[in-house]
Amino acid sequence: MKVLKFGGTSVGSPERIRNVASLVSSRGKNIIVLSAMSGTTNSLLQISAATEAADTAKAESLIADLEKKYGLIIDQLYSTDAAKATAGGKVNGFFDEIREIVNADDKSRAEKKIVAYGELISTNLMTYYLQESGLNAILLPALDYMRTDANGEPDQEYIRKHLAEILKDNPVADLYITQGFICRDPEGRIDNLQRGGSDYTASLIGAAINADEVQIWTDIDGMHNNDPRFVEGTTPVHNLHFEEAAELAYFGAKILHPTCILPAKENNIPVRLLNTMQPDAEGTLINNVLRHGLIKAVAAKDDITAIKIKSDRMLLAYGFLKKVFDIFDKYATAIDMIVTSEVGVSLTIDNTRHLDAILGELNALGTVTVDSDMVIICVVGDLEWQNRGFEAKALDALRDIPVRMISYGGSNFNISFLIKKEDKKAALAKLSANLF
Ligand code: ASP
Ligand code: MG
Repeated sequence: MKVLKFGGTSVGSPERIRNVASLVSSRGKNIIVLSAMSGTTNSLLQISAATEAADTAKAESLIADLEKKYGLIIDQLYSTDAAKATAGGKVNGFFDEIREIVNADDKSRAEKKIVAYGELISTNLMTYYLQESGLNAILLPALDYMRTDANGEPDQEYIRKHLAEILKDNPVADLYITQGFICRDPEGRIDNLQRGGSDYTASLIGAAINADEVQIWTDIDGMHNNDPRFVEGTTPVHNLHFEEAAELAYFGAKILHPTCILPAKENNIPVRLLNTMQPDAEGTLINNVLRHGLIKAVAAKDDITAIKIKSDRMLLAYGFLKKVFDIFDKYATAIDMIVTSEVGVSLTIDNTRHLDAILGELNALGTVTVDSDMVIICVVGDLEWQNRGFEAKALDALRDIPVRMISYGGSNFNISFLIKKEDKKAALAKLSANLF
């Protein structure tokens, strides 16, 4: 059995839903994971925000707009009156439940509850559509098996056990449909796996059922060797190692959510990135096989802030870095990139929520300078240190671009450069020209 995940755009209109339905119905008895239709999660978050601000009138009017939108979708999606009535009844019921949450005295966790309806609606619409087309499509409620533990991490044991039970209770099916993104917390309350979390759902299910493959279907023919929005002539990368994919997903390749890699990697389940608009294109296969001696791709991560702490106290002393790290730890701010010299350390963060407080404390350690609006450019491939030449090629590509930081040797798969935002496009293009 495989797990096939389709994102919001892939199910973003009646036509796209039909397209996905025809795609999955010819591919066997698999588990289909769906996101909410594109735009819906954002609308639900607006409804939640109005609810939390006690602006019931606004929440009600946003609900009415969204309900109307789904009325049109249902009208266009189904051909029989019976299917329109069944799907319409179900979806109206969901909107009534949203209204209840909005008007309840207890508004705690309103956002978690409300935002879950996007995936509940899309999966129900798809299931009814497949059923109307004559298939035995079974809906597996994610809220019955997807759960996080006390640390907020997926409870893999729970997921494995409960999903297996549900599948055992529903052995006869042409295919299974389930919700991405949504889950329950350890207390059984409705929760989610964070924005973009449907990829994570697919990978967790793949691990739980020991799937043959997890397929992430999007709008592009796999992971490209550079960002097609900035560089012309990029090409899909057909094979990636999990570690390479993890670096790329984290450093800006929008196509795959970074959290998706780990469950698949740990359980050795191949992940394939495929294109709904071109289902026969090869896409990108991610697994534990490393193709040696190749640079695979370049990616960029925006909105980076670089902080330099220069201090003579660092010279010939120990414990300085610990003091620096403790400050970032205190403000729960992750450090992305770091380089040190004997008298200073430079590091980058992308979450600037506590920047002022962090700088305030760093000032006690030395002279602090900050550069904002920076970009990390990350070159990914077989960059094991014994290999020769790739570092030189990457550096040479950036010969005319001011480079603020360089990081190499942190993993066997990456070399990163920190540059100014305005140099991003040129840097990406020059790297493509030199490396591919
Ligand atoms: N619907 C959720 C979101 O928009 C989850 C997902 O699409 O993966 O973030
Ligand atoms: Mg996504």
